Amino acid sequence: MQANLNNKKSVAVIGAGISGAACAFQLQSLGFEVQVYEKSRGASGRLSTRRTDTWSADHGAQYFTARDPLFMEEVNRWIELGLVAQWQPKLGVYKEGSWSESFSKDHRFVGIPEMTAPTKYLAKQLSVQYETTICAMEKSNHGWTLSSLEHGPLFKYFDVVVLAIPSPQVEALLKNVTGAITGNASELEESSSVASASKMKSCWTMMAHFPHQSSFAFDAAFINQEPIAWIARNSSKPQRTGLDYWTIHASPDWSDAHLELEKEAVSEKLLKCMEKLGFIATDAQVTLHRWRYASGGLEPMIECHYSANNGLGLCGDWLHGGRVEGAWLSGMKLAHQLNDHRSIVKEH
Ligand SMILES: Cc1cc2nc3c(=O)[nH]c(=O)nc-3n(C[C@H](O)[C@H](O)[C@H](O)COP(=O)(O)OP(=O)(O)OC[C@H]3O[C@@H](n4cnc5c(N)ncnc54)[C@H](O)[C@@H]3O)c2cc1C
Repeated sequence: MQANLNNKKSVAVIGAGISGAACAFQLQSLGFEVQVYEKSRGASGRLSTRRTDTWSADHGAQYFTARDPLFMEEVNRWIELGLVAQWQPKLGVYKEGSWSESFSKDHRFVGIPEMTAPTKYLAKQLSVQYETTICAMEKSNHGWTLSSLEHGPLFKYFDVVVLAIPSPQVEALLKNVTGAITGNASELEESSSVASASKMKSCWTMMAHFPHQSSFAFDAAFINQEPIAWIARNSSKPQRTGLDYWTIHASPDWSDAHLELEKEAVSEKLLKCMEKLGFIATDAQVTLHRWRYASGGLEPMIECHYSANNGLGLCGDWLHGGRVEGAWLSGMKLAHQLNDHRSIVKEH
């Protein structure tokens, strides 16, 4: 078992989405020794782009806005680094069977050439172990140890564990905590109840090419009172190449109600809706993705959660109003909270 031999506090961050990457990056800058574990092959989580040889499509977050001064500063830095650009779609609204143009003044940003760019930039400067799904956590007098589905026990002690994953996955993981936590069991219960109070919604996503559709009045649109809630033409975003693909998001309520449906059945229903919206869906080439935990979270938001006695932190969009901006802010706020409690963090 590898002990922490230098005098830096060691932190394991579970999840390399934008919240985990922001938290890990900030902790590293503050002098912590940080190791990130990520179950996928790459960083960025729900801020994602599906890429094939002939097309690519943003199938998670579509764009992000920046309202908080700290996040605006970060987005400006990303723009200077060529990781992010503004997206100015011709935006439509479909309501009660008719179309209108939206004149929303929001500034919308996207990663370039794909949504993953900012998170991957942060992750490159961190130690990240990919394809490692953390499935159990144990606390002993020496600190936290973790186990993963792929590699079994990971032979390293950590002073602090940060869970930067959706709330239902936090809840499941905290059920698998074992060891000398008894003294602070009520704090562990509190961390669990923070996660269980959060309600996350699903999202069925369809990525589709319509070979008979040469043009459409809008680049993207908010759709109301239909199974579909959002459509966007990927080629209207900066630096996207390949076949012209649309990303189509079903509404959260419709997705929850049809969560266990087969992909073919979902695709049939969503294509029918696209036809109602004015698309020629004949011969459409479609790929479906089901996001089990897409949006939503705690109301009111609490930004992040930290149990100093247990050395256990929670961050993610679900603690900070959902969305990319909230996720980044949650990670940053947790890093600073952990730093403020540095003297309480037990060094093992
Ligand atoms: C369909 C959809 C549309 C969206 N649209 C928008 C939008 O237009 N604008 C906007 O601002 N936001 C949007 N969002 C929300 C936005 O994507 C999220 O708020 C943000 O990406 C969340 O980041 P996060 O780091 O909190 O979580 P995530 O991105 O979910 O990151 C969690 C990471 O943890 C990893 N992980 C999970 N469990 C484990 C484990 N046990 N071990 C190791 N790793 C693990 C996951 O693989 C993932 O990489 C959308 C999301 C979806 C799904």
